[in-house]
Amino acid sequence: MHSDLGLATTDGVDTRLRNVVILGSGPAGLTAAIYAARADLAPLVLEGEPASTSDQPGGQLMLTTEVENYPGFPEGITGPELMDHFRAQALRFGAEVLTQKASRVDLSRRPFGIWVGDPQASEATFLARSLTIATGARSLMLDVPGEAGLLGHGVSTCATCDGFFFRDQPIAVVGGGDSALEEAIFLSKFASSVLLIHRRKELRASKIMQDRAMANPKISFLWDSVVEEMIGEQRLRALRVRDVLTGNVSEVAVNGCFVAIGHAPNTALFAGQLAQSKDGYLLTHDGTTTDIPGVFACGDVQDHVYRQAITAAGSGCMAAIDVERYLESLADSAR
Ligand code: NAP
Repeated sequence: MHSDLGLATTDGVDTRLRNVVILGSGPAGLTAAIYAARADLAPLVLEGEPASTSDQPGGQLMLTTEVENYPGFPEGITGPELMDHFRAQALRFGAEVLTQKASRVDLSRRPFGIWVGDPQASEATFLARSLTIATGARSLMLDVPGEAGLLGHGVSTCATCDGFFFRDQPIAVVGGGDSALEEAIFLSKFASSVLLIHRRKELRASKIMQDRAMANPKISFLWDSVVEEMIGEQRLRALRVRDVLTGNVSEVAVNGCFVAIGHAPNTALFAGQLAQSKDGYLLTHDGTTTDIPGVFACGDVQDHVYRQAITAAGSGCMAAIDVERYLESLADSAR
């Protein structure tokens, strides 16, 4: 099977027909790339763009601290280091990785069209016999007054990226899941105090994370409370917080607020082209197959249940095997 075929388009722009294009470079995308590369399919990975917080190369693990539950690393490993390993392994087997993101896809044509840059350009940047979607998920925000304007000025979704800036300062973390507790524990290394604000009295996080957070002398908890406003001119200086049981509103002075309330899948590119759940996750069946033959989805973009690095990697492997079988079936029918 040929790995790629050069195509010259009518307007003189060279484009390339690929057997395998993979969108996304988290555990799912890069595992798909490793398997596809080892199957001699010369996959092209559009890994995302560094400036983005929603689809940065390496995916969400680039924004996490210690990963203790990825098998094979008994002492733990940081998220960015783990993703460096994935990427190096994909490159070693010949995957091509571009630091770009798709701006548009056309799944109604064969081969599929993938645009990078101007989505209105008449010619697709890449043409693909198969497309593997591994665009992952992004952090949800509270959508309260002040939040958007103060993002990057005291408000953050990434403790690893921004924790250092809050040395010896009071900060808050919003959320009650594993992410919120992980952020709070990590931030306690820098901050003078960490206030975890949760809308209920029970945490959603796993028992081990709860035990660690509760044993941490720098972390305190504000239960049954929601942030209504983030206050500050140039930088965050306080949160307006409402007690959902009493209705009391108070102002909490903090220099930093880390929002860790979950994630949403990155599926806007595929709206109207691929079936999605009511929460926007891509629907797959029989492994990683979508409702368009030749288009496969893996990792957090189609998984709202498990959402782990290891399950994302597993589904990336499945996608590559599904792609390989699909391409073989195309080759068989062309004979
Ligand atoms: P999550 O489990 O969905 O938790 C989100 C938390 O945010 C919940 O406590 C939720 O409150 C709260 N929340 C949601 N919307 C809110 C809003 N508008 N205002 C205030 N609070 C809001 O998300 P996650 O913590 O990001 O974890 C996602 C998955 O990744 C989980 O399966 C988790 O186990 C996994 N994970 C694992 C690790 C680890 O093992 N080290 C680390 C991070 C994440 P309610 O509880 O009231 O719904």
